[in-house]
Amino acid sequence: MCNHRHSYDPARCIIPPYISNKLAGSPDKKIAARAIKNAVETVKLRAKREFSGGLSDAQRALLQPTKPKSKTAKLNMQVYDMLHGTNPSAAKLVWDNGTLKGKSDKQVTNVIAAGTATWDFYYKLFGRNSVDNKGLLLRHFVHYSSKYNNAMWDGSEMVYGDGDGVIFGDFTADPDIIGHELTHGVTQYESNLAYHNQSGALNESLSDVFGIMVKQRMLNQDVKTANWLIGENVVRGSKYALRSMKAPGTAYVNHPQLGTDPQPASFDKYVKLPDTSSGDYGGVHINSGITNFAFYKAAFDMGGFAWEKAGRVWYAAMTDKTLQQEASFKDFRDLTIKQAGKIFGKNSLEQKAVTAAWKSAKV
Ligand SMILES: [Zn+2]
Repeated sequence: MCNHRHSYDPARCIIPPYISNKLAGSPDKKIAARAIKNAVETVKLRAKREFSGGLSDAQRALLQPTKPKSKTAKLNMQVYDMLHGTNPSAAKLVWDNGTLKGKSDKQVTNVIAAGTATWDFYYKLFGRNSVDNKGLLLRHFVHYSSKYNNAMWDGSEMVYGDGDGVIFGDFTADPDIIGHELTHGVTQYESNLAYHNQSGALNESLSDVFGIMVKQRMLNQDVKTANWLIGENVVRGSKYALRSMKAPGTAYVNHPQLGTDPQPASFDKYVKLPDTSSGDYGGVHINSGITNFAFYKAAFDMGGFAWEKAGRVWYAAMTDKTLQQEASFKDFRDLTIKQAGKIFGKNSLEQKAVTAAWKSAKV
């Protein structure tokens, strides 16, 4: 459970409150106890981050944006093993910019592969050097706590749990989740979309949009062969995923513990929820289905690889200096249409596809 205290809190968890609350209220005592323990661990982690109490001065210095050492941009990344503990100062450095420093395992390998692919995606396609475009050191912490059911970007680094092995598997298993969390960093350094209501759902959606493209590029999948599922390995069971961009609301149906995916695919079905932690700040992980679907439609209609056309349009809109912190879906729609015209020409097929995609999502 990701207990944000405020909507502007930078902690961004992959498991939304509508899922963790359901588990905490489960009639299965084991599941409920695990969910509550998970929440307590998240609070502990968050408290540590807020006060940096568990970090040495040297480690705190590492949290600051670092300038690239040379003019040629290159990946700046470290992977730490939390050894199932919750104290970051006790974490062991396992991998340091290409050099193995400790014992590697599946989680370490997953994070190196997807973390590298995310950096490469942003650099090769958009010339962006790390999340801040200044070569920020990307620090990943695996094996956080025991059976921890979440992954998060906490404003400066990534933390992954192993999952309980029952409802959730290993949180490093899906490259789209790693790309999703790192894209929260990109958004933070660009428009810093406010994490509530429509701007918050847009923030969530941009993370899914770029996360799914990172995965599709790693797997060399075009828009037709891709399944457009977020977190297909993280939610256990072959019928389940966390979200579907192609068909929001179908990622899990009648799951014994999670129920049915609540995401709408169109703006007329926008879910109004309170702007509070338990209301998912106005349903940021729910209403993101609407803008996710618009991206899927645009990418699918343009064909080929998603990052070749739709991805370029969405990146240009995401980094457009006129994108406001409190932007609405309509604001973002207008920006993508404007950018599609700039990149591909006014009334181009691409611009028409973007306009039609938003129409499909009823925005
Ligand atoms: Zn997120």
